Amino acid sequence: MSEVVLSVQDVSIVYRVSRGQVKASQHISFDLHKGESLALIGESGSGKTTVSLSFIDMLPSAAKITGGKVLYTRDGKTENIFEFSEARMRDFRWHDCAMVFQGAQNAFNPVLKIKEQFLDTARAHGWRDKGKVIKRTLELLRLVRLDPERTLESFPHELSGGMKQRTLLALGVLLDPQVVILDEPTTALDILTQRAIIEVLKEMQSRLGFSIIFISHDLALAAEMADRVATMYAGEMVELGSTQHIFYEPLHPYSLGLLQSVPRLSQDKDELSSIKGNPPDLIDPPSGCKFHPRCPFAQELCNQEEPVFKEHEPGHFAACHFTENVIEARANLWKKD
Ligand code: ATP
Ligand code: SF4
Repeated sequence: MSEVVLSVQDVSIVYRVSRGQVKASQHISFDLHKGESLALIGESGSGKTTVSLSFIDMLPSAAKITGGKVLYTRDGKTENIFEFSEARMRDFRWHDCAMVFQGAQNAFNPVLKIKEQFLDTARAHGWRDKGKVIKRTLELLRLVRLDPERTLESFPHELSGGMKQRTLLALGVLLDPQVVILDEPTTALDILTQRAIIEVLKEMQSRLGFSIIFISHDLALAAEMADRVATMYAGEMVELGSTQHIFYEPLHPYSLGLLQSVPRLSQDKDELSSIKGNPPDLIDPPSGCKFHPRCPFAQELCNQEEPVFKEHEPGHFAACHFTENVIEARANLWKKD
């Protein structure tokens, strides 16, 4: 595989609240390779956004990083993001790593033309050559399949939701970042617009070569967008593998449960199953495997001993004591389809 641009090593983050500490992200480790798309999937509250916000030092003040490091490599030089000075972090955001948030439709200043917003962003990060900025902006707007000249002269309210999202993607890569984090980038959009945005993203990625961390609840979009997928549950990464591994050969009962809650064409509505129960309280999570109160495969050992996150086949990691039972169950389940 290509070189690693971001190496996340054993990162843990808590939120301090009056009742104690919310263990939002615990012992997260993964490598992001140059030009790849990695999707983080999992229910709301599983810690996907928290871990991503730590990369650009945008965590809320209640958050505390309690362990780990994130190594960032560009042009042969490797640095630990958690040790950046404020000035280096300012430079890192946009130049090296850009984040496009959910609900980003409101990210633009309503009283400024799009052109001014691109120029302002570039100026704030030391790009003073106006001609060069406009040239790159026009290229990027063309790449996201918008009419470049018209978009530049528009106010945000003159653009549709899908056009604003494309413009925001273009703005995100204006300063040529190596890593782009997309947090539910298509949530507010209708399904056709979502598909169009995904196509645009893929094209941009293949032309510009950046890596993507794609945070999503939407498994179908993740399957389309990602090369590799990580499943998160209750602040932990419970499975990591290629898109093929996670969507066709899952080893963790939680990944299997997520897949079973997505409709298949061959399936009756009544056959759809969702994962029973609710995610745990992250202030006082269950003992052993955090998924055991909801897991149909749970046995005695599961509430006593935390499973190790280990590699079961090349590139396919999972934290479960009984993966062999999952393999058997999924074979029986999918035989019926
Ligand atoms: P979503 O998909 O809804 O964005 P997520 O998987 O990204 O969810 P996070 O937003 O990272 O999850 O939240 C992880 C945990 O941290 C949740 O239990 C959440 O309630 C908690 N949390 C998030 N922000 C705060 C905060 N500012 N103070 C206290 N707890 C927080
Ligand atoms: Fe289920 Fe046990 Fe595996 Fe946890 S370790 S996912 S409870 S079978």
